[in-house]
Amino acid sequence: MVRRGSDTLLFDCGEGAQQQMMRARTGFSVDAIFVTHWHADHFLGILGLVQTLSFNGRTDPLPIYGPEWVTGFLTTLRHISRFNLKFPVSATELRDGDWVRFDGYTVHAFATNHGIASLGYVLAEDTRPGRFNREQAIALGVPPGPLFGKIQRGETVSVQKDGTTVSVSPDDVMGRPRPGRKVVYTGDTRPLPGGMPEIAWDADLLIHDATYDESEAGRAAEFAHATAKEAGAAATQARAGTLALVHLSSRYTGAPGHIADAHETFGGKVIAPDDLEMIEIPYRD
Ligand SMILES: [Zn+2]
Ligand SMILES: [Zn+2]
Repeated sequence: MVRRGSDTLLFDCGEGAQQQMMRARTGFSVDAIFVTHWHADHFLGILGLVQTLSFNGRTDPLPIYGPEWVTGFLTTLRHISRFNLKFPVSATELRDGDWVRFDGYTVHAFATNHGIASLGYVLAEDTRPGRFNREQAIALGVPPGPLFGKIQRGETVSVQKDGTTVSVSPDDVMGRPRPGRKVVYTGDTRPLPGGMPEIAWDADLLIHDATYDESEAGRAAEFAHATAKEAGAAATQARAGTLALVHLSSRYTGAPGHIADAHETFGGKVIAPDDLEMIEIPYRD
């Protein structure tokens, strides 16, 4: 789950998702679901969640995005659900390079490598305007007040200074535009043959498949998953800030081996979040 402002997005929705949402006290006000691929561990939770939303009287539409078969999934969902959906659910197929626009950010899809149609997702915030230099604006003759807001919205304003009219543009008093935040979620995948796509570069947080540790690299290749070391290599190539190792096989009781493996190929911060762990992503700068 990614929560940004008043938006709540789910990236995959595994079995028991709604129980986990109850435990985490997030509420059920999901705005969209992005499914990486149609293996059961990534979508079974949608059934229970949709039923609960309907029972709770939801009226807002719920868009579900995913690779090939997303419309087949929705048809199946309707067939096996012995209840009337009280709100519209839509299915939209995404392919490599497609994107979905939200208020202030975009979710981009990129092809992953998992043996069936599969996508990873990049949530990329819009670039933010540079910092407004209040003292500089006053020194140039702009009085504090509504003109500040005009400049911050990109307008050039005219002011009286020492008996002459001067114009002050955003460039005069605004710093360089600042990057928005970026979160990348691969879903299940082998390392991508062409490396991580450019749209995923410089992520603040890269959430990557790390099903196996290095002792089972063979199984990772056989079952189209990544090892923690391979996840580390992807994080280095994509210049990620923090690497979160997820989808660890239940055969492991902890993640110390995975984290050490990832550090062999990645010098940044590596975490293996527990269920329900929350991660705050601060702005850079
Ligand atoms: Zn899978
Ligand atoms: Zn999986």
